[in-house]
Amino acid sequence: MDISKEKIRQLLSTVTDPEVPVLTIMDLGILRDVKVDGEQIEIIITPTYTGCPAMDMISMNIKLALIEHGYTHIKITTVLSPAWTTDWMSDEGKRKLKEYGIAAPDKKFSIPKDGVECPLCNSTTTRLVSEFGSTACKALYQCNDCKEPFDYFKCH
Ligand SMILES: [Zn+2]
Repeated sequence: MDISKEKIRQLLSTVTDPEVPVLTIMDLGILRDVKVDGEQIEIIITPTYTGCPAMDMISMNIKLALIEHGYTHIKITTVLSPAWTTDWMSDEGKRKLKEYGIAAPDKKFSIPKDGVECPLCNSTTTRLVSEFGSTACKALYQCNDCKEPFDYFKCH
């Protein structure tokens, strides 16, 4: 059987982030490459931050999506360099994140003290409440204008 990279990419575009289910691994830009050598499929991913617990889950979901479609020789390679940056995230991904009520990251790994745009009212008069929001990958902010708390996506 000839394995098409395009087909694999298509299947992978259905794999979502376990913590932000509206985002696919394509939106996040963590899928770096797909290599096919005969029956062997290698998927190369870069975690949004080293040691992110959701990455194990994402690897498993990638395998499951492929196994479900009859692909069995799957190798997942994690590449840490170059490190992930928010530039790899698609505009579509940033938009979906905002619609989901989470502020998209501005710069790699940074947790701004203030000035993060509120995903609800677009105010930038916001403040950092906690470096850890609902999960370790998010920081918690509060908007001074609409008073609503919101999450800021800091890693994957
Ligand atoms: Zn607001």
